[in-house]
Amino acid sequence: MPCAIGIDLGGTNLRAALVDHKGKVLAFRRQSAEAAKGRDFVVASLLNMATQLLEEATKRGLTVLGVGAGIPGIIEDGVVYQSPHFSDWVEFDIQKAIAHKLSYPVHVDNDANCVALGEAWLGSARGLTHFILLTLGTGIGGGLYMNGQLWKGESGFAGEMGHMVIEVFGPPCACGSRGCWELYCSASGMKRLMTLFEDVQSREVFEKKLGKDIFHVTIEDLYQGAKEGDIFSNAMFKKFGYYLGVGIASLVNALDIETFVMGGGISCAWNFFIEETHKSLAKRTYKETSKRVKLIQAQLGDQAGVLGAASVFLSV
Ligand SMILES: [Zn+2]
Repeated sequence: MPCAIGIDLGGTNLRAALVDHKGKVLAFRRQSAEAAKGRDFVVASLLNMATQLLEEATKRGLTVLGVGAGIPGIIEDGVVYQSPHFSDWVEFDIQKAIAHKLSYPVHVDNDANCVALGEAWLGSARGLTHFILLTLGTGIGGGLYMNGQLWKGESGFAGEMGHMVIEVFGPPCACGSRGCWELYCSASGMKRLMTLFEDVQSREVFEKKLGKDIFHVTIEDLYQGAKEGDIFSNAMFKKFGYYLGVGIASLVNALDIETFVMGGGISCAWNFFIEETHKSLAKRTYKETSKRVKLIQAQLGDQAGVLGAASVFLSV
């Protein structure tokens, strides 16, 4: 039976799976990415995981068609030019580094592109011809899927939607610009906005209840707070929803794409922000276009990336 290995390297986790031609995950591994230990360590962990899964495939008598990997950052033909989580990965040919150690075809792409491929194959975007995938996590990842395939741009760098400018005089971003979308609409963006929240009193109530200061509040704390009806937590998710709508409106206006599939850690708080997103989006788009927009949750969770990475080698 034909199958492939899919690898999904994030800033926090490294995941890998052995996937059959129908998209069934036959084996799944996850461990901490440990980005701080440097490039060689991360690549060695990735190769170790892939080797374990290749051995598993051999044991099961499966034919492995290739190894696909999703990596965060600006990638062209398997070369990482810049990665937000791995600062020492500059013009690093990771595709070659993996292929050199494994005697299988290797394909490396941007991580959000892999998530988009996974959702298009087996998730919420199944059957769609056009959609935009957004991962709402530490930053914003984007995958642009048009005419039944990924649009990677002329050099392969498309989909960096998190760096669309939404506040011209906003704070500086690691990309070199200012006021980028992900400074407002991501886990790191929310943490920043929490410290600037206008209603100090409700923030202090939340801090007191949690027993920690605002600099140590996590998105999980906020999500829990929102579920319990906490004023500050609910207001923060509304703010997030507002900014999400601002960015989506620009994408709708530029591309006339109707479906937005959203995953990533913050998407679990969907019901606490999505209404605000619709409102904010409606204010910034033509009536006719905004009523056609569908905002839907991704379905595949933390397996979307590995499935999408593997799908490159499977007939989908
Ligand atoms: Zn930026």
